[in-house]
Amino acid sequence: MTVSPRPNNLDAFWMPFTANRQFKENPRLLVGAEGMYYKTADGRDVLDGSAGLWCVNAGHARPKIIEAVSKQVAELDYAPAFQMGHPKAFELASRLSAMMPTPLDYVFFTNSGSESVDTALKIALAYQRARGKGEKYRLIGRERGYHGVGFGGISVGGISGNRKTFGTMLTGVDHIRHTHDLSRNAFTRGEPEYGAEFADEMERVIALHDASTIAALIVEPVAGSTGVLIPPKGYLKRLREICDKHDILLIFDEVITGFGRLGTPFAVDYFGVVPDLVCTAKGITNGTIPMGAVFASSKIYETFMSGPENMIELFHGYTYSAHPVACAASLATLDTYEEEGLLTRAAELSSYWEDAVHSLKGLPHVIDLRNLGLIGAIELESIPGAPTKRAFSAFLKAFESNVMIRTTGDIIALSPPLIIEKSHIDQLFGTLANVLKQID
Ligand code: PMP
Repeated sequence: MTVSPRPNNLDAFWMPFTANRQFKENPRLLVGAEGMYYKTADGRDVLDGSAGLWCVNAGHARPKIIEAVSKQVAELDYAPAFQMGHPKAFELASRLSAMMPTPLDYVFFTNSGSESVDTALKIALAYQRARGKGEKYRLIGRERGYHGVGFGGISVGGISGNRKTFGTMLTGVDHIRHTHDLSRNAFTRGEPEYGAEFADEMERVIALHDASTIAALIVEPVAGSTGVLIPPKGYLKRLREICDKHDILLIFDEVITGFGRLGTPFAVDYFGVVPDLVCTAKGITNGTIPMGAVFASSKIYETFMSGPENMIELFHGYTYSAHPVACAASLATLDTYEEEGLLTRAAELSSYWEDAVHSLKGLPHVIDLRNLGLIGAIELESIPGAPTKRAFSAFLKAFESNVMIRTTGDIIALSPPLIIEKSHIDQLFGTLANVLKQID
């Protein structure tokens, strides 16, 4: 069967997480990017209010990263990491390990956030077996959690659309509830006051299944893709205590909070809670080359290393694990973050940012405003029966007005590059205020 091509040949690309037919009628094409701005095919400069997809933390077209990538492709374009290695992989792992608090000293490379999540879940299961506790096989996630799109990630994730479309999931998974509670916390600045007790949901799940069957709990310190859910004060510490008490591993999915988003290198630092495994991706290469990394504690790593020396310790890995070009991109990204103080810049800007977010209070449809570090959320009241429509029209209007934002449900999520200046913050929120006044 032949399908007649559209004039601009948009048909063949089956776009991810996109209303394909709607997009292809009214495409939004990006053809360039520099600093805080994208360039559109129709020649407009669009302010990047979402750091691409929460990944371009140092802004676009950073010279050091461009140079490192070009040089690496010419020098060593590819090298396997199975029973082989190249120096930059080891250099990068050491450098990343030094950025994390001990005992998160070991780094396993992946190519995306989804792969980092599936890797962490597999390490958790294999760890329990390696120490003779194979009956600990259950994985616990959270409602409204997003952990990428692998079967592990959607199983522990809690977004109904991502789950019900596919039917089959991992078995042995349960969920605790999310922490979103507008009845008590609406319009909170920073961390919500109420809701640390939602952590006790984990005790409920433990009572139901017994701790002897549970391998790990996975949470995003700040849930991003499901609408920026900031943990109530004390919540994450309490989860850590419960996991410790019951010998359950705690996994943080820091795919969006990693690399400076909260004003500290990682959410681990911001909340002062150290999990056993940490999933990262996105900002690790400033979004330039796909890469992810899982940090594992020494307790976990050493358990694997206590078997016979001539045996492969973990039957897991990817063709592109520790890809040389990704390693080069990441090393140059870390240089850029360090030289420009970007990993703490969100802390310097956070009060200006917080005021800007909360300046939208009182505008039409706004039922909550949330912020932490350089993350913001504007929750809109949904049109009955059309739970994503209002925010999506805000997204379209904002894009026409030269500002790029992300929406999920009826929530606008903001996460600009960390190089943002106050004038950009003014442009972002000035535009959003106008947009909110214009949409139905
Ligand atoms: N975990 C979290 C918390 C994320 O926000 C994302 C992506 N938004 C992922 C995992 C998946 O990452 P990727 O799209 O790179 O697979």
